[in-house]
Amino acid sequence: MVVLAGPTAVGKGTLAAYIRRHHPQVWLSVSMTTRQPRPGEVDGVHYHFVDDQEFDRLRSAGEFLEWAVVHGRAKYGTPRGPVERALAQGRPALLEIDLAGARQVREAMPEAFFVFLAPPTWEDLVDRLTGRGTETAAEQQVRLQTARAELSAAPEFDAVIMNDEVSRAGEELVSLMFDPRSPRPEE
Ligand code: 5GP
Repeated sequence: MVVLAGPTAVGKGTLAAYIRRHHPQVWLSVSMTTRQPRPGEVDGVHYHFVDDQEFDRLRSAGEFLEWAVVHGRAKYGTPRGPVERALAQGRPALLEIDLAGARQVREAMPEAFFVFLAPPTWEDLVDRLTGRGTETAAEQQVRLQTARAELSAAPEFDAVIMNDEVSRAGEELVSLMFDPRSPRPEE
């Protein structure tokens, strides 16, 4: 199993969409969230959208492999059952989650392979965050602060992929998924 994490707005969601479209052999975990759907997002495909009460009920029942409050706003969690079923079937599984969630998965499943998605530069990350237009200025400030702290977590990961171009980064990720313990080119 591969866990993809990285700073806010680095493009994890876009990379996940690339994998969904071009590599259907990869099983992609569908997270649960209490945030509202954005235009074009489909319940059950991009996320399972639930209310706070339902999220808390599932959390209390131990239904999440990991969960986190992201950007102090909404709750996100990885449903445990589908991950366990995918792994039991021997499917290559990918989780796209935030850093706090990745740390929880490392505790629960130390044998997983952890990939950090990095922006080419800090300026690139700021551009992506402010250019997306889905957050208010105050929310952007919170996300920038979070992103700065998150960038320093890269050394905790098994591999770092630079998100310079989505198809290139996606292919690198898929090749790691099918042979994640292979040495990286720079080693
Ligand atoms: P967005 O709301 O923009 O889709 O995602 C916001 C953040 O939540 C992203 O950093 C994404 O990686 C993270 N996220 C999505 N699903 C999960 C999840 O199941 N668990 C955790 N911990 N974070 C998640």
